[in-house]
Amino acid sequence: MDHFLYRDGELFAEDVPVKEIAAQVGTPFYCYSTATFERHFRLFDEALEGTDHLVCYAMKAASNQAILKTLAALGAGMDVVSGGEYARAKAAGVPGNKIVFSGVGKTEDEIELALTGGIRQFNVESEPEMAAISAVASRLGVEAPITIRVNPDVDAKTHAKIATGKSENKFGIPISRAKEVYALAASLPGLKVIGIDVHIGSQLTQLAPFEAAYKKVAELTEQLRAEGHDIKRLDLGGGLGIPYERSNSAPPLPVEYGAMVKRVLGHLNCEIEIEPGRLIAGNAGIMVCKVIYVKSGEDREFLIVDGAMNDLIRPAMYEAHHDIVPVVEAEPGQEPAQYDIVGPVCESGDTFAKGRNMAQLADGDLIAFRSAGAYGAVMSSEYNTRPLIPEVLVKDDQFAVIRRRPTYEEMINRDSIPEWLDQTSD
Ligand SMILES: *Cc1c(COP(=O)(O)O)cnc(C)c1O
Repeated sequence: MDHFLYRDGELFAEDVPVKEIAAQVGTPFYCYSTATFERHFRLFDEALEGTDHLVCYAMKAASNQAILKTLAALGAGMDVVSGGEYARAKAAGVPGNKIVFSGVGKTEDEIELALTGGIRQFNVESEPEMAAISAVASRLGVEAPITIRVNPDVDAKTHAKIATGKSENKFGIPISRAKEVYALAASLPGLKVIGIDVHIGSQLTQLAPFEAAYKKVAELTEQLRAEGHDIKRLDLGGGLGIPYERSNSAPPLPVEYGAMVKRVLGHLNCEIEIEPGRLIAGNAGIMVCKVIYVKSGEDREFLIVDGAMNDLIRPAMYEAHHDIVPVVEAEPGQEPAQYDIVGPVCESGDTFAKGRNMAQLADGDLIAFRSAGAYGAVMSSEYNTRPLIPEVLVKDDQFAVIRRRPTYEEMINRDSIPEWLDQTSD
């Protein structure tokens, strides 16, 4: 459920007409709903009620400072995957002891940043990385809390680019080698082993792969405890999918996921951490665009809109589907139309949808891409020297620009000219 609903045929973000935001901010732009972010965070928090737990929002899904502050105010922890994200989490006021550091390639500088600023745990993904964390912690004279990310060799049954739990993927250490790697961790200085981490992929639409992975984690917990390791925290990753196509998909709900977690892992009395990103942010955001031209092709109509693959790359990168709706609904009785919806970028990949049935649209009409809150703005670029599009946050009847559109001048001035090209220096 989200808070982008029609009232009298017009799309609203909470209590604000989307048309009004477009008039003030210009298109294209991302628009987020505070109430939806809050609702989704609480669904996870409540799903784990009765167990010691922390919901660490995977901020790579949408990491604007205003979004982080909104979630931090509810008590959210953060899952970060870079030094930049760590700095963002701290800047939003999240204390170090609520920040989890994931990712396969943490550099020594990033490790030092986190150890100095405070960290809940590093999720370690390889032996060389473990050695690096041990070395930096020893040099700083501190102890680094770690879990080891295990790769359970489970098929997440999702898009290949976002499946992470099979043995051919770069993530984690094979679960078959876990005992050996935990023994190594226990022998290294500067490390404190506190738990196990697993994350098998994103946009999972069934519970079975999660359950298969968590059963392996439960077994491993008992084996490691028998070897003397103090396993008290289980980080279960993120990955629960969202209904991108309203008409025909219904992934499991957080409450069902939470019940499964308690059933499979409850007897271990571990603190449970989860790292949802997409489910918290995905349906909390839309991308609003304007139709520039309706162009007739040989055998189809193209809707050329002012947003493009550089603004929302998911269709080009993952063949992702986004529901696309008019901001002002068609009058009843109007003929439906079918469009290929494309952006202005000079690549055929810049296609959002093919043969999409929708109401007839004309130049200047506004459309909204639903479910664009996660992996939308954060993956955007300035390809074709198109400015990064603004982000807007709505709360009840208020809205604010939380990242403004840069000017052409700002974009150009980020480049610098070497002395030998600088005409004014001779
Ligand atoms: C991407 C990622 C997540 C979040 O995944 P979602 O599908 O957005 O919930 C969580 N943990 C790790 C380690 C990740 O890489």
